[in-house]
Amino acid sequence: LLPSCECNSCYYGSDCSQFSADCPANADSGDPLFFEPFWVKHAESSAVLVSGWHRMSYKFGYENGTFISKELERHIRKLHGMVGNANSTGKFMVFGAGSTQLLNAAIYALSSQDPPSPTRIVGSIPFFLVYKSLTEFYNSKNFEWEGDTSMWKKKSLPPSVNFIEFVTSPNNPDGKLKDPVLRQGPSVKTINDHAYYWPHYTAIPAPANEDLMIFTLSKLTGHGSSRFGWALIKDQVVYEKFLNYMLLNSMGLLKVLLGDGKEFFEFGHRTTRTRWESLDKVISASKRFSLQKLIPGYSTYFQNITAPSPAYAWIKCEKEEDGNCYEALLRDGGIIGRSGSFFSAENRYVRLSLIKSRDDFDWLLQRMKNLVSQEQAHG
Ligand code: PMP
Repeated sequence: LLPSCECNSCYYGSDCSQFSADCPANADSGDPLFFEPFWVKHAESSAVLVSGWHRMSYKFGYENGTFISKELERHIRKLHGMVGNANSTGKFMVFGAGSTQLLNAAIYALSSQDPPSPTRIVGSIPFFLVYKSLTEFYNSKNFEWEGDTSMWKKKSLPPSVNFIEFVTSPNNPDGKLKDPVLRQGPSVKTINDHAYYWPHYTAIPAPANEDLMIFTLSKLTGHGSSRFGWALIKDQVVYEKFLNYMLLNSMGLLKVLLGDGKEFFEFGHRTTRTRWESLDKVISASKRFSLQKLIPGYSTYFQNITAPSPAYAWIKCEKEEDGNCYEALLRDGGIIGRSGSFFSAENRYVRLSLIKSRDDFDWLLQRMKNLVSQEQAHG
């Protein structure tokens, strides 16, 4: 028996089997654990076996200066074709250690070398903080973080300054489909982060077809620790700059998607949609909190109008006195989320993850229900 002091804070008892009502609902990380039951069910067909004699030497798969496995590349192109979320025809593909590595590569590849002034990197609030952190981390003379796109909206951009705009669609945290904000021109490039552009998180109105698109297995199948992402790149010069970034593997998982794709995406969308609906129902009874408004869209994948099914709830505290929404949720309700400031937005906003395991979500919902009924009791 474990001494009770070794139980984690959510459990107690001599064998740590008692769930504590003081346990906070942790809705912080965007880890799509909701797929676990799907992968448990498909354990055998999705298993990846790598024999010791396999993949020895650098030379296999080393083509055109990259370690891309042609078979893996073929699977990914087929998957985009089957889902209809991206047009990969005529585009180069680069693999990366997660999409984060490719975001790095993209900034590097799109910014001008030895420019008169650094390329300015922008995103629209609320944006995924990693874009800013990556840019600042490199502390490069070639590019610098400029901040929110709204300062440049509809303005003519200064001549001889290059811009890179991050367009995250659907957006993290608010799940909206996004278009670039900057007026397009030769000095403006966009990095289209499509981590969540899959039928389980959004309707797919049409295949994405931008010059530089980035995808990740982390959000597609939930395998974040496999650190596997890919970029689709139209321009050969940009592609060549990407070529130091690569990784392999993950073919077994993609094979399951190609074989049982319908079941996978139906499972995914059903789970995310019902989670959103149950949270929406609870929050619609509240005057204190509101959810982002998302509208149903026609999904070319499901060939139907699909209800919203975002990865995150982007909750707003409606009352001025609740200014620090994150603190309010945390203090009153025992819910752990990510505060608005993390996305350069106000702290009246907080992001709650809807894609963790079922237990995590159920506990979050219970906590939210408690908060809303307390609010109603206090009239
Ligand atoms: N882009 C977006 C919009 C994300 O939300 C995330 C993960 N939270 C990533 C990229 C990074 O994903 P990874 O490095 O695991 O591929």
